Amino acid sequence: ATPTAVMVATGVGAENGILIKGGDALERAKSIRSIVFDKTGTLTRGRPSIVSIHLFSDIKLTDFLELTASAEAASEHPLAKAIVQYMNCESSVDDETTDGRTMAKNFDWLRKISDFESIPGKGVRCRVDGKVILVGNKKLMLDESVDIPSKAEEHLTLVEQKAGSEVLVAIDGKLHGVLGIADPLNIDASVVVHRLKKMGISSYLVTGDNWTTAKAVAVEAGIDIGNVVAEVLPWEKVEFIKKLQENNGLVAMVGDGINDSPALAAADVGMAIGTGTDIAIESADIVLMRNSLEGVVTTIDLSKKTLARIH
Ligand code: ADP
Ligand code: MG
Repeated sequence: ATPTAVMVATGVGAENGILIKGGDALERAKSIRSIVFDKTGTLTRGRPSIVSIHLFSDIKLTDFLELTASAEAASEHPLAKAIVQYMNCESSVDDETTDGRTMAKNFDWLRKISDFESIPGKGVRCRVDGKVILVGNKKLMLDESVDIPSKAEEHLTLVEQKAGSEVLVAIDGKLHGVLGIADPLNIDASVVVHRLKKMGISSYLVTGDNWTTAKAVAVEAGIDIGNVVAEVLPWEKVEFIKKLQENNGLVAMVGDGINDSPALAAADVGMAIGTGTDIAIESADIVLMRNSLEGVVTTIDLSKKTLARIH
């Protein structure tokens, strides 16, 4: 494409809330054959909230929540934000109270944290008030040899079937509770998947989250179950993209998280959600500033129309 064509396309993109960082990716966009979507924060709104809490010990609920939220306070993960947000009552409409707790954005529940460690694709681990706290998925508990009682297993299955994510909490090596967190689908997800299909582009869902939740979200979004890959680590997202590139031609990746950045860089066209993490935005060729997935379709249209004509 000529520099003028790229400049025009970049301008039109900007008007539509699409930040195009360079002409090369824009040029490639018109030849995309497959699009890989991340789940949390991409196909879903990334504004999950707590929908259930189950405790498997005699721990007081406030203690459980304060320990959990303190451990998550330093994490950027949407699930962590949901827990912190719950403690800060951000979802309450009026200033006063929702469920008896006063509105407080002052983090007065926050306890003393040390040795914080974020474990990509699994969760977090740190010390709160001297106790070792693990917050994350089953993989994390398995890694750390935390036993999951059958009562907890039953509950996990229920949460997953409702397209929710479960967050397991272990204190000093023992599982104390599970939070069910649900994240509604982005309202334009299924419309975009449908339109891509009409353009001859296949959509895929690749996530670090569990299979049941991933499939439930795929069904809602209109993505074929056969195009779902779940429980993968960040580098496995990259492997998947490389496999698609070998078999199906050019691949775009849409994501928001730290865990998506290697895949965003590996894809022929990396698209980051505007409210995503800095590292995702840095790794991407295109940024969807309005957080709308429609930008994916607009970008491809733009590439086809603007560049093809002036070429
Ligand atoms: P996704 O690909 O859906 O964006 P990630 O790769 O970021 O998911 O994380 C995969 C899984 O690891 C999450 O679904 C969750 O179960 C767990 N996880 C990661 N970080 C956290 C955290 N801070 N708190 C709780 N769970 C987490
Ligand atoms: Mg994500």
